[in-house]
Amino acid sequence: MCRHLGYLGPERTLAELLLDPAHSLLEQSWDPTDMRGGGTVNADGFGAGWFGDDGEPATYRAAVPMWTDTSFPQVARQVRASAVVAAVRSATVGMPVSVEACAPLADGQRLFSHNGKVGGWPDSLAKLAGRLETTDLLTTAPIDSAVLWALLRQRLDAGEDPPSAVRDLVGEVLAAAPDSRLNLLLCDGGQLVATTWTHSLWVRKGPGSVAVASEPYGAPERWVEVPDRCLLVADTEHTEVTSLEEEA
Ligand code: GLN
Repeated sequence: MCRHLGYLGPERTLAELLLDPAHSLLEQSWDPTDMRGGGTVNADGFGAGWFGDDGEPATYRAAVPMWTDTSFPQVARQVRASAVVAAVRSATVGMPVSVEACAPLADGQRLFSHNGKVGGWPDSLAKLAGRLETTDLLTTAPIDSAVLWALLRQRLDAGEDPPSAVRDLVGEVLAAAPDSRLNLLLCDGGQLVATTWTHSLWVRKGPGSVAVASEPYGAPERWVEVPDRCLLVADTEHTEVTSLEEEA
């Protein structure tokens, strides 16, 4: 299953966050150590997203193994950001390998990644997806993660706060598709909201910084594992982990 990462803190280059550390996201693309639920490598594409000075997210995504992209390291050494979401992808069986399917998915304000799969997709989500006004996204990226992202955006655009929107989305998706793996990651530039639902997630707090990742990178002793079936809400000062169990 895919590996993802979120960072908030002092400005770092993408290379410092994603390429240089021990067991970096780059290394996790070919040598992940905790792939629950299938897959041995994350070679179906990758993406990095960051927030610019104007507060808007930008992404670099490609439907190739991260280690084969010779342009990304150059970009990654130049781009500095204080809010980053990145992922390497192992496509769920039956889902296309395309750049549109690579996380992070973005709108003008937020970055989103999904590690896992929706059980029984697409039939299990047909009813929920039916309330989406646009199917454009699903035409360009007909994958479960795009449906989750569209449903989440609908909640956020309706004014729900990000932690509640993520918690409620997990609840309704599990009700429709109980056999789902839902490690979600959302960032608006100032806050990270992440869930664990049958995949690994670790958190590392530092002075004025926080990072979450499917697998720890850099110094291992600073990471703490987030329990399964939890919601994590973090900014550079505070981190809160609460149970999602009542959503099951
Ligand atoms: N189901 C999603 C996809 O196909 C996520 C896959 C994963 O976590 N391995 O992209």
